[in-house]
Amino acid sequence: MKHTPSLDAHWMPFTANRQFKQNPYLISRAEGAYLYDQHGRKLFDSLSGLWCCGLGHTRTEITQAVAEQMGRLDYSPGFQVGHELSFELANRLIEKTPIGLNKVFFTCSGSEAADTALKMARAYWRMVGQPTKTRFIGRGKGYHGVNFGGLSVGGIGSNRKLYGNLLDADHLNHTWLAENAFSRGLPTYGAHLADELEEIVALNDASNIAAVIVEPFAGSGGVIVPPQGYLKRLREICTKHNILLIFDEVITGFYRTGQCFGSQTFEVMPDMINVAKGLTNAAIPQGAVIAHEKIYNAFMEANLPLHAIEFPHGYTYSAHPVACAAGIAAMQLYDSEQIEAKVNDLIPYFENALHQLKGLPHLEDLRNCGLAGAIQLAARNGDGTIRPREVFEYCWQQGLYVRYGGNNISLAPPFIAEKSEIDQMFNILADAIRQLK
Ligand code: PMP
Repeated sequence: MKHTPSLDAHWMPFTANRQFKQNPYLISRAEGAYLYDQHGRKLFDSLSGLWCCGLGHTRTEITQAVAEQMGRLDYSPGFQVGHELSFELANRLIEKTPIGLNKVFFTCSGSEAADTALKMARAYWRMVGQPTKTRFIGRGKGYHGVNFGGLSVGGIGSNRKLYGNLLDADHLNHTWLAENAFSRGLPTYGAHLADELEEIVALNDASNIAAVIVEPFAGSGGVIVPPQGYLKRLREICTKHNILLIFDEVITGFYRTGQCFGSQTFEVMPDMINVAKGLTNAAIPQGAVIAHEKIYNAFMEANLPLHAIEFPHGYTYSAHPVACAAGIAAMQLYDSEQIEAKVNDLIPYFENALHQLKGLPHLEDLRNCGLAGAIQLAARNGDGTIRPREVFEYCWQQGLYVRYGGNNISLAPPFIAEKSEIDQMFNILADAIRQLK
């Protein structure tokens, strides 16, 4: 039998460590749409890892690219010298982005992408002679990672409350409205929520505001879907007041919404797109900020001496060659497997199956956007136990991995899932909800 190490030393992230260590759920391997636990139980991966392995796990094409790259160039210093793969990956990325968004700055994670984009926004305004534009505006229930910048613009209270002073940021209200509960896809009502941005601008003056950052749909907050017209309205207000609009597409990027980026699905052009997760199908950590060329050009055309470093920012592992190899392999797979068409075939099927849960007990809402959805439950059983946790435990026994957070079970199945697997996932979830007290 395989030896299980002591669980004491690893302080696990976003985990109830004491609960986990009493009753550990350990995953030993993964393949395609499935995880396998330490007892060999096969689990359908209903969240594609953490929204990141849409192509499925342990894809040979990515594994091989990574292994070959490890043997050829395992690391390359990335400051003042470069390597070809990062340029190749950047070129492949900008083939997929909206026109004009064609400058790629690599990071190692989505959190780093958030802080990079915020710093880039402030630096940009200095470069173009408007140094007072420093404030940021995020949104309630927004998630932009865990570094200080991203946390400051983020809107999940439980993630912020232990840390004292953060950056001074304003927050739009989130877009969940009780009257929109059980909407299919984008709610028709609620675009007016974007007008709050006008109020925040009026309070602070546009001359002090650098950027607004939102996720096209708020993923970690529980797949909170923007009402129709909301994102367009945000864009209009940002344009009117000369404020940069950053879309954090760490979850929505790479086909989750049906097109490569949520910006395309929602037909709204931001000034920066943040990505991570699907960039490498999560096999190797990597993120990026994809900036509009006007931002890059402001740095390049700033009349600095040739030897000056225009944007003093970056990470030891920015554009890591192994991550770039994984990214290139992932981009090839998205294209060669026609993932966009596959996702668009699955979206209506998924939406239908999700909304068939309506009528089950304890449901507060069912939401969906693209190939993502959430089941919102009245959180507590009569005896105080947490219903989403019970759903998680029941599903695990039945061969389904689900992620729960707050009141929500979030779903984002792999793009390679079969319709029969989607059915099976919802059958197990329905049973899990039925057995709640
Ligand atoms: N932004 C968004 C929208 C995310 O969903 C996440 C991760 N869930 C992040 C940023 C942070 O990414 P990472 O965990 O790679 O730092």
